[in-house]
Amino acid sequence: MAEAGSDTLPDEFTNPIVLKNGCYENPWKGFKFPGLGGLLKFIFISKDNSNIPKSQELDKTLPVEKPDFARLNNPPPNDIQVTWIGHASVLVQFDGLTVLTDPIFSQRASMSQWFGPKRFRPIPCEVKELPNINIVVISHTHYDHLDHGSVQQLNERFGKDLAWYVPKGTKQWMTNVGCENVTELTWWEESVFPKNTDVKLVCTPCQHWCKRNLIDTNKALWGSWIVKGPKHSFYFAGDTAYCEGFEQIGRKYGPFSFAAIPIGAYEPRNFMKNQHVNPEEAVQIHEDIKAENSLGIHWGTFKLTTEHYLEPRSKLTEELKNKNIPISSFFTLPHGRVHVIGKDKLSCDE
Ligand SMILES: [Zn+2]
Ligand SMILES: [Zn+2]
Repeated sequence: MAEAGSDTLPDEFTNPIVLKNGCYENPWKGFKFPGLGGLLKFIFISKDNSNIPKSQELDKTLPVEKPDFARLNNPPPNDIQVTWIGHASVLVQFDGLTVLTDPIFSQRASMSQWFGPKRFRPIPCEVKELPNINIVVISHTHYDHLDHGSVQQLNERFGKDLAWYVPKGTKQWMTNVGCENVTELTWWEESVFPKNTDVKLVCTPCQHWCKRNLIDTNKALWGSWIVKGPKHSFYFAGDTAYCEGFEQIGRKYGPFSFAAIPIGAYEPRNFMKNQHVNPEEAVQIHEDIKAENSLGIHWGTFKLTTEHYLEPRSKLTEELKNKNIPISSFFTLPHGRVHVIGKDKLSCDE
């Protein structure tokens, strides 16, 4: 059972995060941290079915578009405009806000730009080309979600005008990089956005873990995020396995006008199921949180696992059809495409 601590909140919706000896633990039923045996099997035995082809073929299967900057700089006032930068980086514009999630513009998701997973699809634009960003939310400290170079560039460009929201335990890292306007929250904790008090941010649960070096495993918290405006609400699932937290999030804060939910990096299942959802589970999250529209993220950019590189998209469509959910309500986008929800036709994967 959870050890009572400063991070435990007594609330009917709360699955208290467990803090034991300075390390966070998932409170979910049946959670098991992947062991060394599973890791070695993943590295040495698992068959790699990713089959990532040469860039000429990738240009057809996963096209990267230059964003329409005129639209990015003049988002529609009443709608939700979304642009997939790649991986878990999404630009979401609604209620006069521009929100960026887990920004990664670097070539590699790693502690060094000399080794580690390299992107197989280029960035659609650079930090200097982005529109004015008001809020960045960070889900956790893994290198494919918290990228030093990108944080540095965003901070250089926007300084204290940019509000950063991070799960508990990551503020110091942000401050060390130079970010001044950083808010650190634990699960179920809410914060009013100072520049517009009609906007609220909430750090919400998920099932994952944190690590950047040999000695910091789970010393920082992981989480998902809600950005709730006066007209629309956005849910960012971050990086997660499936857990009962999503049904609670749906009950407490749903429905959401828009959600970004991971669909990739899930094979081999025996090793990945405690840290990453597969497309079937992503659709379950979409239903649990009562999302009106969702974008599939965390795929098609870095090769992290062994499933075929296009399988997340095809399995997503398959699962939506199985469940009789309109495929336009949980969609994918080409990198860089600027899409207004409900207004622009989806040409991708229909
Ligand atoms: Zn992660
Ligand atoms: Zn990830």
